[in-house]
Amino acid sequence: MTAPTDTITLNDGHTIPQLGLGVWELTPEEAYSSTRAAIAAGIRHIDTAAGYGNEAEVGRAVADAVADGEVTRDDLFITTKLWNADQGYDDALEALGVSLDNLGLDHVDLWLIHWPVEKWDRYVDTWKAFVTAREEGRARSIGVSNFYPEVLDEIVRATGVTPAVNQIEIHPGLSQQEQRADNQARGIATESWSPLGRGVLGHPVIEKIAAEHGVTPAQVVIRWHLDQGLIVFPRSRRPERVAENADVAGFSLTPDQVEAITAIDDDPDYSGRIGADPRDAVFGTPLA
Ligand code: NAD
Repeated sequence: MTAPTDTITLNDGHTIPQLGLGVWELTPEEAYSSTRAAIAAGIRHIDTAAGYGNEAEVGRAVADAVADGEVTRDDLFITTKLWNADQGYDDALEALGVSLDNLGLDHVDLWLIHWPVEKWDRYVDTWKAFVTAREEGRARSIGVSNFYPEVLDEIVRATGVTPAVNQIEIHPGLSQQEQRADNQARGIATESWSPLGRGVLGHPVIEKIAAEHGVTPAQVVIRWHLDQGLIVFPRSRRPERVAENADVAGFSLTPDQVEAITAIDDDPDYSGRIGADPRDAVFGTPLA
């Protein structure tokens, strides 16, 4: 098997590789080695954030992979996110400059507002800065993370610009049907964060389906995301797992298997959020 090359076309006409690598909680050194392992395994999409403290090493891994002739910059899709403390029109635009310097890039392919932090009431001005950054070409596509209908309504009303993506917590046990339907109705692509969940890889339904396909539980869960049209970027510090998570092109799930995994939402031993509820999160986020 190999890494899938499927892409999703965003509402601004740009395309995004459906499968990527996430680098949350990786040390700078691990972010470097995982990014190199992912590119070597055929992954072309990396999801980082200012708040992860590893943009510089992701950038160095990209530069080294390009210098070694493995890929060109244009083959790659790089996402970063604005940290909460930098919300506001001027602060956001300045923070994008810092992220680009860290990454060693002149543009990111996707820039996201990491959390709305509704209580601070700065997300509308922040979104205006994102629109400016897209006009400047410093962010090809712009989107949000952890947004819900009320805050989506406000940023679209203020600017007339709909985010290209909304990155939200999704895994077996938290399939988020309502927010996904809301995103879809607005023309927003959905990205899944913490896609492998916590502990759910040992769920008997997932283990059974893995055995039926002769693949690993992680590969089954990654396919569950891909087969539903979600954009997904599992994280691992271990190069062999990065390669395993990329190696999902050779099989797909039946509709019944997708449904059986989604039904884990109703299993109290495995269901629920891992991270903060975006309506409450201020700094009480997984990164606090
Ligand atoms: P994940 O769901 O990708 O992985 C969870 C755990 O699974 C990790 O501990 C990992 O070591 C383990 N794992 C990975 N591959 C495995 C395999 N093949 N077999 C067994 N175990 C395996 O975790 P995540 O990092 O929380 O989420 C993925 C990415 O989503 C992040 O790295 C980040 O880029 C993004 N994210 C965004 C937000 C947000 O607020 N926007 C929040 C959390 C994560």
